[in-house]
Amino acid sequence: MQPVAGKGLSMARRLYTSRSLGLVLGLLCVGAALLPLKPPVWLVALMLFNGLVWPHLAYQWTRRSAQPYRAEYRNLLIDSFMGGFWVAAMQFNPLPSVATLSMMAMNNVAIGGVRFLLAGLMAQSLGLGLGLLLFFPAFIPPTSPLQLYACLPLLTFYPLALGWICFRQTHALGKSKRELLALSRTDSLTGLLNHGAWKDALEIEFQRCQRQQAGGAIALIDIDHFKSINDTYGHVAGDIVLRQLSKILKQNLRATDVAGRYGGDEFCVILPDVPLAHAVQAMDALRDRFSGLGYEQSPALQVSLSIGLAAFNPMHSDATQWLSDADLALYAAKTTGRNRVICHADGLVQRVAVGVP
Ligand code: GH3
Ligand code: MG
Repeated sequence: MQPVAGKGLSMARRLYTSRSLGLVLGLLCVGAALLPLKPPVWLVALMLFNGLVWPHLAYQWTRRSAQPYRAEYRNLLIDSFMGGFWVAAMQFNPLPSVATLSMMAMNNVAIGGVRFLLAGLMAQSLGLGLGLLLFFPAFIPPTSPLQLYACLPLLTFYPLALGWICFRQTHALGKSKRELLALSRTDSLTGLLNHGAWKDALEIEFQRCQRQQAGGAIALIDIDHFKSINDTYGHVAGDIVLRQLSKILKQNLRATDVAGRYGGDEFCVILPDVPLAHAVQAMDALRDRFSGLGYEQSPALQVSLSIGLAAFNPMHSDATQWLSDADLALYAAKTTGRNRVICHADGLVQRVAVGVP
């Protein structure tokens, strides 16, 4: 797989905040432990560089990288390496050492799971090894009160900040997940439910009707001669017709009705808790309204609908049988002249008296 350009930039931005805060608080902690040891100037300069300059340098380095994710991974390893190095430089002063190492481990596991944690531990060990080579290996068991107080900001604010960053990320992920779910259930052209989502809704409605012994109907709606509309007026005009139909559906159905695009020029509606006669009237009114629509771009265009309706029948063993009834009714509407509503009830396909031309 080709690496995605820019992948990891948002992670770099998140890390910039946590690194800047963590390293400046860490500087306080390390400084309090290191300065009493009378360190050489270069070590103090390195400590200041690490705490104050490195977070900004690391961010700019990542931003300029062709592979930001890899660049951030490298930066995290450098952070960990330096963490190990400072522990040796502080001569293992217990509280600053544990605070530095554990905050880094927390950061690494929050960002990259066990893989980053282990890689970070390796880098910390290497840093520690270099520190041992450079400095006289010594161990300072007591932590002075001043050093303890210097560690408190790191121990208090850093976990708080990291927790906040993780919470915000989880919140954003939850939002994206909901948006993606909605997208995966929506037909992009019409904004109605797509085939799969509507079938799910049908299954739920079928089970509800069975459980509550409720009545309801479903309708399959197909545009007449749509192919020739596309051929004559173009696919853009065809798309406008599809959108008009979805608009009419949204405007004329009840809030409880569930409309979807079954596919191509075929639409589908669930009409819960409605006697078949009312469903017929509603669908015929819809057919009538749609056939009366004019199209600005193609004034000569007139479009009609064929609609097949099926009432819920307790004898149906599943939702597919209910849908087959609607399909039979739609077929009858097509074969008996189009531009009409035909319904299927009590095992019979019936032509509807209302409004049939
Ligand atoms: P009938 O009256 O029997 O329903 O005839 P029809 O021409 O409507 O039926 P057919 O199934 O042959 O044609 C459906 C056409 O719908 C064919 C396909 O090119 C067109 N179509 C499917 N999806 C879209 C779409 O998203 N946009 C447009 N413009 N056309 C589409
Ligand atoms: Mg059609």
